[in-house]
Amino acid sequence: MDLVIYNTLSRVKEVFTPLDPARVRMYVCGPTVYDYAHIGNARPVVVFDLLYRLLRHVYGADHVTYARNITDVDDKINARAEAEGRTIREVTETTAAQYHADMAALGAMLPTIEPRATEHIDDMKAMIERLVERGYAYVAEGHVLFEVSKMADYGRLSGRSVDDMLAGARVEVAPYKRDAMDFVLWKPSKPGEPSWPSPCGIEEAGRPGWHIECSAMAGRHLGEVFDIHGGGIDLTFPHHENEIAQSCCAHGTEQMARYWMHNGFLQVEGEKMSKSLGNFITVHELLESDKVGGRTWPGAVVRLTLMSAHYRQPLDFTQKGLEEAEKLIERWAKLIAPIELPADVAPPEEVIEALCDDINTPRAIAALHGFARAARSGDADAAAKLAAAASFLGLGPESWRGATAASEDAAKADPEMAARVERLIADRIAARAAKDWAESDRIRDLLVAEGIVLMDGKNPQTGEMETKWELKK
Ligand code: AMP
Ligand code: ZN
Repeated sequence: MDLVIYNTLSRVKEVFTPLDPARVRMYVCGPTVYDYAHIGNARPVVVFDLLYRLLRHVYGADHVTYARNITDVDDKINARAEAEGRTIREVTETTAAQYHADMAALGAMLPTIEPRATEHIDDMKAMIERLVERGYAYVAEGHVLFEVSKMADYGRLSGRSVDDMLAGARVEVAPYKRDAMDFVLWKPSKPGEPSWPSPCGIEEAGRPGWHIECSAMAGRHLGEVFDIHGGGIDLTFPHHENEIAQSCCAHGTEQMARYWMHNGFLQVEGEKMSKSLGNFITVHELLESDKVGGRTWPGAVVRLTLMSAHYRQPLDFTQKGLEEAEKLIERWAKLIAPIELPADVAPPEEVIEALCDDINTPRAIAALHGFARAARSGDADAAAKLAAAASFLGLGPESWRGATAASEDAAKADPEMAARVERLIADRIAARAAKDWAESDRIRDLLVAEGIVLMDGKNPQTGEMETKWELKK
């Protein structure tokens, strides 16, 4: 069966053929680690996790390389560290750890490689020097800029005219730019900001621009031309357009990736999600707090909600949607409970067919409905299919257990619940260290409401704050 995917580059659905079926390569732009991932950020994670699972099924688990970067150098990170009196590394490390915990709770597998920007500075510098040597970039006032007019094909991915692009560019054009469209590859660091020795003979220390990070990391781990590049639709321009410009001009290739895939945007209760509207929801809040509907939600429920619309369509994330997903998960859970799946069970054809149709998750969910209906009327084969399908789609029992499902008694016996409490306690200690008393109180109240007693103290050896906990008798 062919895998068909919509390619943003050609604007049509195409049959996917990898450059090398023994090494299928996919790159997805990952998080900038300064704050909890919001529910919109989780959408590409779930979408490309499904594609990763499908590629592993089709080409073999050992023949797929999935790289998703961690951007750990950025203005937003610097600002956050400064505001909280923490080191940049503390901010990036705690945020990356939280990201992993949240995405694991949503049933997303870890990518094969998670390159960090700060560990690839030399690759970025080498690429920047090559761009200057080849005449695609120039040095100006401590900056290195990519000269967009040198690339004939610029704008092909987003299909924008230069006028459109200019309208989207910053209003104020930096004086050192030859043209308003030119973008930064390298810039000087201000005092206190992370900095590295600069390329191209620039004396003052500096740091990379955002776009060059992905080009350098993708080049290092996946090669000059690879199969699939993904991300949210907002990244098409300028980020992906700039990645293509940098990679193609540095490597002298026609293409960077052969298939470009973009997920649509997620809204909350019909409105754009934004901090100012007060409808901004993090994955962490869904899993661990009472922000939505006055309760927590299991990871599988959140994942199924994110799968409810086709990935290229907009998705309206609502409490009603979560409730409906939960009803389904609970219904399926009952049918699957008695089934013991062999470890190497194959997913049902109907589900593979649905995913091969440009990751058609509504169609995959419809297939699960069908299995559930048959299973309810006593068809054991259908129940086994339901179990195999749920597990393949990352909706299996591993991700059902959320805070809500577990009773207090179960908590102590339940290592996942204990791990969750430990995690919240670590968050609370971090909040206190950052003097964020409101957040620290919020976490304490949340735990207390769940019948957990906290005992604060000091570790006698290190002198650091330590919190022990037990369930209220
Ligand atoms: P950022 O940290 O803003 O670069 O975003 C990380 C990823 O989440 C990117 O792939 C974005 O395109 C994606 N993303 C951000 N906001 C949303 C949203 N509201 N809906 C869907 N995807 C989003
Ligand atoms: Zn990127």
